[in-house]
Order: sequence, then C-alpha cells, then structure tokens
Amino acid sequence: MALDSKTLFERAAESIPGGVNSPVRACRSVGCDPLFIARAAGSRMWTVEGLELIDYVMSWGPLLLGHSDAAVTQAVHAAVDRGASFGAPCRDEVLLAEAVERAMPAMDLVRMVNSGTEAAMSALRLARGFTGRDKVLKFEGCYHGHSDCFLASAGSGVATLSIPGTPGVPADFVKHTLLCPYNDLGAAQRLFEGHGRDLACVIVEPVAGNMGCVPPAEGFLQGLRALCDQYGALLVFDEVITGFRVAFGGAQARFGVTPDLTCLGKIIGGGFPVGAYGGRREVMERIAPCGDVYQAGTLSGNPVAMAAGLATLERLSGLDYGALERRTLALATELKAVFEAKGLPVRLNHTASMFTLFFTAEPVTDFESAKASNTGVYSELYRQMRLAGINLAPSGFECAFTSFAHSDEDFGRTLDAARALKL
Ligand SMILES: *Cc1c(COP(=O)(O)O)cnc(C)c1O
Repeated sequence: MALDSKTLFERAAESIPGGVNSPVRACRSVGCDPLFIARAAGSRMWTVEGLELIDYVMSWGPLLLGHSDAAVTQAVHAAVDRGASFGAPCRDEVLLAEAVERAMPAMDLVRMVNSGTEAAMSALRLARGFTGRDKVLKFEGCYHGHSDCFLASAGSGVATLSIPGTPGVPADFVKHTLLCPYNDLGAAQRLFEGHGRDLACVIVEPVAGNMGCVPPAEGFLQGLRALCDQYGALLVFDEVITGFRVAFGGAQARFGVTPDLTCLGKIIGGGFPVGAYGGRREVMERIAPCGDVYQAGTLSGNPVAMAAGLATLERLSGLDYGALERRTLALATELKAVFEAKGLPVRLNHTASMFTLFFTAEPVTDFESAKASNTGVYSELYRQMRLAGINLAPSGFECAFTSFAHSDEDFGRTLDAARALKL
C-alpha cells in the first residue's frame, strides 16, 4: 500500500525530531505539513500521492540543472558501479578541483568537504590559524551553516559582542563573532576601527540568500575588500548559494571582487552532499597535511559526489546564464505586477536565477528591512500555490530558485496560479 504524506509525516514525527531532518522542511512557518516527494525530474516533483509540483526550491539551491539531469545521473550511476567510497584519492576529485579553480581563478587550491556548514567552519578555522587572530565579522541575516561560531545574533547595538542564537552554544564560543547589518559599510568601517587588528576575517554572502534575496549595494563588497586589506584581515565569500549560480564564476566574477577564501556547496555537488573551500595558495597551504591547521573528512572527496559535481559543472559551463537571468527577471517582474494588481505592496529583489518578492512597501536591503515583509500574506500564498501545483519555499525569507530545466510553460502556469490566488 502506498503511504500518503499525512501518514508518513505522522510516522516521521514518532521517529525523527519534528518529523524532518532539517527544520525548514517542516513547513511550520507557513502553517502546514510537508509533502513527501516520491520522485523528481527537470522542473517538476511528484509527491507520494501523485501530485505534480513545479518546483522553485530546487533542493534549496543545488539543482541549477533541474532535478535528475540526465548527464549527472549517468555519471553517478557509472561512479557507483566503480565503488561508493575508497578512503583514498580518486581521479574525479582532481578533475573537480581543477574545474573549480578554472571557474574561480582566486582559488589556487581547494579542499573538498561534505557540506556548506563544514566549508564555512573550516574556512574560519583557517583564517584564524593563518592570521593568528580570533575575531570574525559576519552580517545579520547571513547564514554560514550551523557551526557554533556562526549561530550568533546581535543585541541592539552595532559592534557589540554577540549572544548565542541558540541554546547549546556557549556565550564564550560566539564572543569573537561580531555583527553588522548587511550592506552597511559605515557600520563595518566603525567596527574595523575598534577591532580591525583582531579580525581574522570578514565572512559575507556576496548576494545574501538566507534572508530572502538581498543583493549587495553598489560598492559594498569593494568596500569590504578595502577594509580587509587595510587591516590585514581575510575576506571570505560564502558562495555556497551564489557559486556557479549568479555567474559560472560566482559572485566574485559577477562583481569583480576577489576574496581571499571562498566557500562552496550546493551546486558543486549536483544534488549530493559536497562542500568546498579554497583560495590563495599561501593561505590554503596552512591546511594539513601541508600546514598545521587541522581539517579532515572520512567521506570528503567521495567518488560518487565528485562525479556528480564534475558532470554538473561540465554541463553548466556550456549553458547561457544570461538567458536564464532574463527569463527569471521577466517571471519575477510579472509576478510582482500580479500581486500589485491585488493591492499588495511588493518589493522585488533579484540576481540571476534567484529572486524574492517581499510584501512590504520599503526597499529590502538588510535583515531589518526584510523582516518588514508580511508573513501572513506569504503563508496564504504558499498554501494556495502548493494546492495549485507550484512549490515555493515554505518561508517568505527564502529565495525562489529557477533552473535551466524550467520552461516558459512552467513560468506561464506559475503566473496563472498566481493570478488565481485569493489573498
Ligand atoms: C546552505 C548554506 C550553507 C550551509 O550549507 P549546508 O550544506 O546546508 O551545510 C552555508 N552558507 C550558505 C550561504 C548557505 O546558503
């Protein structure tokens, strides 16, 4: 007997905390239960009860080629046939490292890990080891995975010491994490004036994607580069979302700003658990075994995951990013007009194949302004769109992701569903 989503979720809640293995999937913030997916292909997913969904979550960003891309699937099958894991070097980790370094010339060396969390955590350790300094500057609303140091939220004051964002993180572990509002170069500058010589690094999502899509203001990334240079801190771009998405060469190519270290994840694994961090040779050579900063992984550089990543990058390198960006912007602009016609205040933020519609009248440039978005409207929109076969992120503070597999027909059906909404 086929199990439906409701039954599966009830059983899941008995065996898994909250019924899910990552909290956002529970769909609590939009007031419904998750749908269980049986299979997916291209722009579509099918639930266990057979409901077809046009997907704008795309596994939270990794699937820029769409679900079950034929070339990726074939590469994965072939790799599995050769063995799931060797615990010894394999060819594809070399080929993938070379492909990453070609796409992002700021990366002389790259180390594979198993998630974006690991990439950011390891980059921070390396930055600290290399500079001999402890402090890190991050921006409110930016997400760098769930390691202790990054789970900090600010008090009201800028440049105050952080308080932990979750129980289980000792205050001592985040006391070196300093926070600024995103896009506020003045605040970053003041913080540097106070702590610049103690800062190991600044870590930033060069296009923020974890408070909804918030592009960098003109000069923001350049300004951070200049501050880091002036004070001898490293600039770390967390390109876990933006890498291979906002341009094949990532945000660093798109905005022409060169970081010292880059974190990758999501797309680089083609749907498998892969992260990576890399950068300037002199910094990366501090990593064990060539240096003294320790970092390791039993399944790092896994041959199946490497084959998936390699096939993904090979496919992506030949595709027209400009065309996808234009089509995505056209869709997002039409959606905005649909909601405005319903009398809702809407702000559209967009970069390449990621966008967010915020239900607020004011521009969204940081976490504070993002939080002004009307979550009640979003929850209702999410539920009705899902019933109409359109899968959006179950939170208004996420990006919608398009892929090279989304057709004009998909976009047309999405717009029709939006027009039919009763909000
Ligand atoms: C998703 C994400 C991470 C964490 O990656 P995981 O693979 O979920 O650990 C880190 N940084 C950014 C910018 C992300 O979007």
